[in-house]
Amino acid sequence: MNEHDSENIAGLLEALGYENCDDPYKADITIINTCSVRDNADKRFFGTLGQFKKVKKSRPDFMLCVCGCMPQQPRVVEEINKRFSWVDIVFGTQNIAKLPELIEERQKTGRRVRAIVDNNPNIDEDEMKPVRMHSHKALVNITYGCNNFCTYCIVPYTRGREKSRMLSSVCDEIRSLVADGVIEVMLLGQNVDSYRDAAGHSFADLIKAVNDIEGLERIRFMTSHPKDISDEMIDCFRTCSKLCHNIHLPVQSGSDRLLKRMNRHYDRAAYLEIVDKLRSAAPDITISTDIIVGFPGETEEDFEETLDIARKVRYDSAFTFIYSPREGTPAARFEDQIPDDVCHERFDRLVDVMNAISFEKNQEYTGNIYEVIAEGVSRSDETTVSGRTDGFKLVNFTTDKSPEEIMGRKVKVRITESKTFSLEGVEVE
Ligand code: SAH
Ligand code: SF4
Repeated sequence: MNEHDSENIAGLLEALGYENCDDPYKADITIINTCSVRDNADKRFFGTLGQFKKVKKSRPDFMLCVCGCMPQQPRVVEEINKRFSWVDIVFGTQNIAKLPELIEERQKTGRRVRAIVDNNPNIDEDEMKPVRMHSHKALVNITYGCNNFCTYCIVPYTRGREKSRMLSSVCDEIRSLVADGVIEVMLLGQNVDSYRDAAGHSFADLIKAVNDIEGLERIRFMTSHPKDISDEMIDCFRTCSKLCHNIHLPVQSGSDRLLKRMNRHYDRAAYLEIVDKLRSAAPDITISTDIIVGFPGETEEDFEETLDIARKVRYDSAFTFIYSPREGTPAARFEDQIPDDVCHERFDRLVDVMNAISFEKNQEYTGNIYEVIAEGVSRSDETTVSGRTDGFKLVNFTTDKSPEEIMGRKVKVRITESKTFSLEGVEVE
């Protein structure tokens, strides 16, 4: 979501005549797009702001801006104002479209500009001209915000209430992306399964409509919420040929007691049933997840249930996080917080289990041929290219073709070696 916000911001700046500059300390304008989901991003953010003091001193016309989830929290804006007076513009997640006006205001008045307005009608994607990071694939927002209030999570407070874009507007955007050479889209939302537009279209309706767009080859989406995923959506894996056989389905915990405390609205039995349904709709589907370790009140038994569900599902990959208390969320006020050493010990055990499963699952790929869309070239060796399979596996492969010939194209790759986080291979005719 932040990545796509950055693409939209870059588009607004290009329209004002700015060009991309790789060095944020030499640029005329630098925008720090922040995340506040966990505390380590929080800490790094303030350190980064400090480093810009000397830039501002030596070049008073340099403009430093901050946006994203951090400034949605009043304590952060207060701290910026108090300790980092050299920050020129601060704007919230719902004020992105206003950036050109904010820059003008700063230049005209010379005063610091702060624009954190909640419940703005969100950025109008139809008006945006994002600078996309890849020419063949694009991120497409389908919903904004979140209504779920998982007790650990700050997102509903920083991104506001959930809103769905109209199906017709999403499809129009994708059609124009395809006309521009895009063959793969990632539909984005904090909980794509609760998508419902003003005309009553569901997420399954949306996938079917996107699947009908000529010229498009791959459809992905993120993130699914187990409480809202529908049978009709799961059936799309059978009926929609462009829908990639890959799903990110955060489980967060394998303990029913903790899932309840997290306000997730499903239990392990319901989760496992969804996994079964997905695998019967698409036997080769790859599944990834998010897991939180050390949620308040987590006992050794709760944690073992998490290890157990991971072994049962056999995830292809997982993002594992140590619980990070977020000010203002209910879980941060729970009294039974877990000591750091216990969290770290469990985290290490979980990572070992997950990595062993990923490694084992990847072994099944060795010797087989997969379609891969080439995305990047190795810096050290032009004949080594990276790309993704339909199931989102990262493949590094060698090819005789030049980077220009192959980038953004679908090629066939034979897998020669499987590692924990990637596959190695060679392009075949
Ligand atoms: N909307 C998505 C993800 C949002 S944040 C979803 O519901 O899946 C991405 C992940 O960060 C979450 O799935 C969760 O595992 C993790 N996360 C969120 N808040 C956290 C916290 N306070 N501490 C640790 N991990 C957290
Ligand atoms: Fe956070 Fe839960 Fe919303 Fe995901 S669904 S963004 S974890 S509150």
